[in-house]
Amino acid sequence: MEKAKHAAVIVAGGSGSRMHSEMPKQYLEIAGKPILYYTLRQFENSFMDAVVLVVSKDWIEYCQTEIIEKYQLQGVSAIVCGGKERYDSVYRGLSAVGDCDYVYIHDGARPFLNAQILERAKACVEEYQACAAGMPVKDTIKIVDEHGFVRETPDRNYVWQIQTPQVFSFPLIKEAYEQLYHRTDPGNITDDAMVVEAMLGHPVKLFEGAYENIKITTPEDLVTAENFLRKLKIMC
Ligand code: C5P
Repeated sequence: MEKAKHAAVIVAGGSGSRMHSEMPKQYLEIAGKPILYYTLRQFENSFMDAVVLVVSKDWIEYCQTEIIEKYQLQGVSAIVCGGKERYDSVYRGLSAVGDCDYVYIHDGARPFLNAQILERAKACVEEYQACAAGMPVKDTIKIVDEHGFVRETPDRNYVWQIQTPQVFSFPLIKEAYEQLYHRTDPGNITDDAMVVEAMLGHPVKLFEGAYENIKITTPEDLVTAENFLRKLKIMC
């Protein structure tokens, strides 16, 4: 049997408005290197056959010279221009990924992905065709109404916080995104699992990510990220 082809789409095309900085969050530095470098490095040493990086138009050159060339990252096979919403950027990445069996969609702003998570993702997608990294929540979660009053308290045993990578059989995710694009109003799409659930009704299996696999979103996440990095350096 021919070996399955695995490809990654790394979305880093956001503006990072919640960081309140001029620079989008994925380019801010931790320990002297851009966040996106740490993310790409995890894919560099992985089993991926192709890596498509999606960035906004104004940052293509920066990524090419200041990240890919500077740190000699040879795994990135293409850089493509992102879109207005995250799902637009994912769609453009999927359109550029070429022939593959499985696609790993990952946020550029999540630099603490590791080889164990990618291995778990691979095993899970080969069995279930659609899966996403996540972790059980530690806090109690409340569903509230528009006035901030509690409407519901879901059983914590069944509530997970969702991360990336989100990994799919390529034909399945492509079909889900094509259907999304035929809708006049796609609604509030915040991850790829939602697209597969909503467009195809296909079940999405969760696998264990890591509590460290944070998305760097607000300034306080940068402090946490520096601490994680310090811990990881001590450990290796
Ligand atoms: O905005 P959010 O935090 O959900 O972004 C998650 C990831 O998606 C980030 O890595 C961001 O750069 C990326 N993104 C994108 N294109 C957009 C919006 C977000 O590639 N239009």
